[in-house]
Amino acid sequence: MAGALPVPGAVFFDMDDTIFDHALTSRDALGRLRKEVPLFRRRSLAEFAREYSRLLEAIHPSVVAGLKSADEARWQRFQELARFCGGEVGDAEAARLSRMYRAHYLSLRRPVPGAREMLARLHGRTVVGIVTNNEVAEQRAKLAYLGVAAFVDLLVVSEEVGVGKPDPLIFETALERAGARAEETVMIGDSWANDVIGARNVGIGAVWFNRFGADPPEPLRIPEVRSFRAPRRTEEILFREARRARKPRR
Ligand SMILES: [Mg+2]
Repeated sequence: MAGALPVPGAVFFDMDDTIFDHALTSRDALGRLRKEVPLFRRRSLAEFAREYSRLLEAIHPSVVAGLKSADEARWQRFQELARFCGGEVGDAEAARLSRMYRAHYLSLRRPVPGAREMLARLHGRTVVGIVTNNEVAEQRAKLAYLGVAAFVDLLVVSEEVGVGKPDPLIFETALERAGARAEETVMIGDSWANDVIGARNVGIGAVWFNRFGADPPEPLRIPEVRSFRAPRRTEEILFREARRARKPRR
């Protein structure tokens, strides 16, 4: 029973595709964009959406490193998407496509089912933190839009820290702000490399949020949660992992 387990010093959540449903919001927004842009229908929605996520991952580090603005990264993403579909678009058209996508994306935003209830359940019992790679304004807006800001004690964003997950500095910053020790803290997130391995490397417990039932990329014994629909069970997994004996990997 979770009640019998000690409450962690802090519980950290990833934001995108853990609290905020980026994957389905993005897929639906791309679907709407394809209906308006014939060029983008030369590829299937699945291919188009896969390439979009690949570009997002590939271009994001240059934003974190301050080499590109978020807008420039968006335009580049749409120029490369056009190329992927066998077309060519200039800067102005890329900016227009990016604005169209963005408008759909904003109107379709939604939380991961059960995430809000999970945060509300933990709030006031432990320090609830969000550790995320993105821009501060964007992530704050998501918290407000999803109605979860009141349940979150701290928001640690790569933009303000200057490095993103899995860099140890962002986790150390979160621990310091939470006033918690790594060995009494747990992190849950969907990215194996950023959330699971990133947390474990600094001695924080890790739970993999494996919503789509993927195979673990490495044979490590990491507890996993596939949804927040069973909050009591999820809490038990988080609390147990927060106190499980472990050593930092580095
Ligand atoms: Mg994520």
